[in-house]
Amino acid sequence: MSITTTMRSLVILTYHSLDDSDSVVSVAPGVFETQMASLADGDIRAISLREALDFRKSRNDWPENVLVLTFDDGFANVYEQALPVLVRHGFGATVFLIAGHAGGTNDWDSPPPGLGVRPMISWREAERLMESDVEIGAHGLHHVDLSRMGGDAVETEIADGVERIRSNLGQAPQTFAYPYGFVTPHVAGIAARHFRACCTTVHRRASVEPLSLLPRIEMYYFRNCRDLRPLAFGRLDRVIALRRWMRAARRWFMRPACGALTRTNPHVESGVCARTNP
Ligand SMILES: [Zn+2]
Repeated sequence: MSITTTMRSLVILTYHSLDDSDSVVSVAPGVFETQMASLADGDIRAISLREALDFRKSRNDWPENVLVLTFDDGFANVYEQALPVLVRHGFGATVFLIAGHAGGTNDWDSPPPGLGVRPMISWREAERLMESDVEIGAHGLHHVDLSRMGGDAVETEIADGVERIRSNLGQAPQTFAYPYGFVTPHVAGIAARHFRACCTTVHRRASVEPLSLLPRIEMYYFRNCRDLRPLAFGRLDRVIALRRWMRAARRWFMRPACGALTRTNPHVESGVCARTNP
């Protein structure tokens, strides 16, 4: 079935850790709670990426009056802080879990300033999330930069992460987020064979993009925004575009040599995944 070029846009939000450290990957739990309440007050529902994909498959369009919540990495504070809020409002979400760190800590890199060592969601907690309409997606086995790996290594890293989740939770993940947001055409091609959709860190609303390269809105830039209704209705597109242009300029000056499509400074500019050394 062909995809219409008049497809609705879809806001996919990227959160990481819900804590009060004010690190580049953190949103305060109290702010998150207020943000979710603002959506509920505006009759906007938060859903998982899987639910959005199901709607698109059946209706050839993205759903209305919703936005997608995603949490990268699988910090335990998502289970502790986000789940009660989601349940209260009847919201869904997607957690992109680093399979090799479930039940462990965020020691795949040195944590960004202020964050410190944090526990990650256990498999039992992941089961409870699934029971509450939270989708468990994949984020690799070890949280490595796939754009710098060879073909066989990319396949192994992704496939082993999928199998680790399937063996522990009884279901293979349907969606994926590229670690650090780094992706090449080669990596996207391999990921597309494993997942219904894959998320980047490109900072804009999604619409007609390939499902293997879905953009998202990084919530680091909205960590002080308590009312998400303007964001959900597309009224902050100029702000989002300005940030995207600033990141593009920064990429130009950084001149990455690896050919990655979406390589950015992962520490601050993309706000992704607790990496400290660009
Ligand atoms: Zn990550």
